[in-house]
Amino acid sequence: MSTQHHLQIRPWMTAGPVVRLLRALDADSIDVRFVGGAVRNAVMGLPVSEIDLATPDTPQRVIERLHQSGLKAVPTGLDHGTVMAVVDNATFEITTLRRDTACDGRHAAVEFTTDWHEDARRRDFTMNAMSLRPDGALFDDHGGWDDAKTGRVRFVGNAADRIQEDYLRTLRLFRFFAWYGRAPIEPATLMACRVHAAGLARLSAERIQQELVKLLNAPSPVEAAALMAANDVLQYVLPGESDVSSFTRLVACETQTNTAHSWIRRLAALSRAPTESVADHLKLSNSDRERLKVLMQVEPVLDDHTDPLRLRRALFHLGASLVSDRILLAWSRQGDAGSPAPWRALLEAAAAWSPKILPVSGSDVLDLGVKAGPAVGRLLAAVEDWWIGAGFEPSHTWQQNFERTRRGIEKKENAMHLAPPSSPTGSIPDAMASRTIAEFLTL
Ligand code: ATP
Ligand code: MG
Repeated sequence: MSTQHHLQIRPWMTAGPVVRLLRALDADSIDVRFVGGAVRNAVMGLPVSEIDLATPDTPQRVIERLHQSGLKAVPTGLDHGTVMAVVDNATFEITTLRRDTACDGRHAAVEFTTDWHEDARRRDFTMNAMSLRPDGALFDDHGGWDDAKTGRVRFVGNAADRIQEDYLRTLRLFRFFAWYGRAPIEPATLMACRVHAAGLARLSAERIQQELVKLLNAPSPVEAAALMAANDVLQYVLPGESDVSSFTRLVACETQTNTAHSWIRRLAALSRAPTESVADHLKLSNSDRERLKVLMQVEPVLDDHTDPLRLRRALFHLGASLVSDRILLAWSRQGDAGSPAPWRALLEAAAAWSPKILPVSGSDVLDLGVKAGPAVGRLLAAVEDWWIGAGFEPSHTWQQNFERTRRGIEKKENAMHLAPPSSPTGSIPDAMASRTIAEFLTL
C-alpha cells in the first residue's frame, strides 16, 4: 500500500552537481527519483553523504543521456543496472528500476522494469525502500517513513524469504540496526536470521569484511554484536571465540574517554581467535593485518601497573596511536574491577607523546672505530635502549666520555675484531652515551 509524504527540499537536493545530473537524466519528463540511504537519512534528519538515484530508463539510455550532457558515465554495475555518473568530481549511482529474479543467496538475475513498486519490493529494509522525487514527493510502499522515524529495522516482506535470496541481508540487518536501530528487531526476524545463519558461509570474505567494518564503525554497535552472538550469526563472521563482554567494555571506555572509535580496535576486542585466522577469514589488507597483529599481541604488556619506563619504551617502538589502542584494549579486558584512574593516566601520557628519533646513527658508530657488521646494529640497539631508559635526555656527553670509550674500544679491539679507532671528529652528538658503548663492549 503506497503512502505519499512530502519532504521539505534539502540543500543536497538542489546542490549544483545534483541539478546538473537531474537535467542530464531529463528529470522534467522522466520520473527520476532519489532512493536508498539518501532518502532514509533525509527522513531521519541525518546528513546525506552518498546520493543514489533510480530511473525507469535503461542503463544504455542513462549512459547516452550522460554523454549527451558532457558528463562522465562509468558502467560500474551494468549487469544489475547501475551506472556511475561523475559530475564536478562528485559521483552518483544511477540504477534502472528492476526486479530480482532467480536469487541464489548471493547473486540475483535482474530484469528491468518501469514499475516503481517492483523496485521497492526488491529492496532490503522498509527504511531503505522509499523513493523521493526532486520536488519533495516521497513514495513509501512499505511503511519506511514510520520505521525510519522510530528506528525500526524491518525487512520488506518475509524475513526468511528475503534472507534466503541474499544472505548478506542478515549482516545488513545488524549493520543498519547498529546505526539506526532504536526499536528492537522483531523476534520473528531474529529467528529467521538464526535458522538461516549457515547460509552466511557462502558469502565471500570481501563482502563479510565490508559489512563488518561498517557495523563496527557505528557509534554503538554493542547491542548488534550481542544479538549476532545470541543468534548464531557472529560465528560466521569471525572465526573461533568471540568476546562480546570485552567489546562492550571497550565501547564504554571509548565513550568515557571521548576517544574516536576505530573498527580495527573494536575488532581486536571482539575476537579471541589468533590474529592470522581473523585476518585470513576477513581477507584483511596487509596494513590492517599488521595493525591487528600489534593490537592483539601480548607483549609489551600494558596493564594498569605499567611504569613510566615500560610506557616510554612502548611509545618509542609502537607510537602513540597503537599504544593508546593497546591501553584501551587492556582496560576493557580487565573487566569492571579496578580504578579507571591509572588507565586514564596512561592514555593521557600516550596522547602527550611526541615521536623521538635516536640522535645517533650507524655512521656515528663506525666513526667510533667499530668495524662494519652486526656489531653496529647491536651497539645501536643498546644505545637506544639506554637512551630510552634515560628519558631521551642522556646525562653523559660525548666530550666528557670520549677518552674512556676509546680506551674501552682499544682494549677490546682484538677480541671484538674492531678496526682501529678513528680520530674524534666531534660528529657524535651528546646523546651518544659512551658509557653505554663501553659497557656494551665489555659484554
Ligand atoms: P549506506 O549509507 O551504507 O550507503 P545505503 O542504504 O545507501 O546505506 P547501500 O549498500 O549503498 O546502502 O545500498 C543502496 C540501496 O540499495 C539500499 O538502501 C537498499 O535499498 C538497496 N540494497 C543494497 N543492498 C541490498 C541487498 N543486499 N538487498 C536488497 N536491497 C539492497
Ligand atoms: Mg549507499
